[in-house]
Amino acid sequence: MGTNSPDDYYALLGIDSNADSAKLRRAWRQLALRWHPDRAGSGATATFQKLSEAYTVLSDPTARAAYDRRRGTAARSSGVSSGDATGAPPATARHRAPGAMLSRLSGALNGLLACGAARRAEGDVIELFLNAHEAAQGGMVTISMRVPVRCSACPPDATASCTRCRGTRTVEELFSAWLAVPPDVVDGTLLMPSAQLRGMLRSVSFRVRRRGPL
Ligand SMILES: [Zn+2]
Repeated sequence: MGTNSPDDYYALLGIDSNADSAKLRRAWRQLALRWHPDRAGSGATATFQKLSEAYTVLSDPTARAAYDRRRGTAARSSGVSSGDATGAPPATARHRAPGAMLSRLSGALNGLLACGAARRAEGDVIELFLNAHEAAQGGMVTISMRVPVRCSACPPDATASCTRCRGTRTVEELFSAWLAVPPDVVDGTLLMPSAQLRGMLRSVSFRVRRRGPL
């Protein structure tokens, strides 16, 4: 107890501080499904971003180790008198801001394709071109696009008279993909959105492409 502050990433995700990566991923997936703004409404965006930030840090071994050190230092120094210079200087952790939005890579997919920040690759993979700074820092990316989903209005016995999809059994819906880009991300890393739309016919994934300074 006592570590239940809103900034405690472990408490946010409801896991122990020694949880392994499988446990972490499971907790994140469940929370992401519940709090994804497409499902929970735009009022959930702030919560979702907090959860994403917690997951981005804890899923990266280096960032997690740094966070654990900071967390331990904070717990110790809130106890007795200060004065002993233990732990790393706080500035070392500060240049990483994994919860920040990567705004150049966020927005409508068509716009990102048009300006060359993204490119459609094989299958349903979309490549994102990060510059050196973005790749080092990491952060959140949200990309909206229209995707085919199974028509939910079709009658179960699939006769012709569905007015929503005109019998095609497929409609297009707006999908917001939320991606957590870990700091120091490696070229070729495949990123899955935190949630997919219900009834989506094909899942969409993203691949990180690093390129030098523009
Ligand atoms: Zn239909």
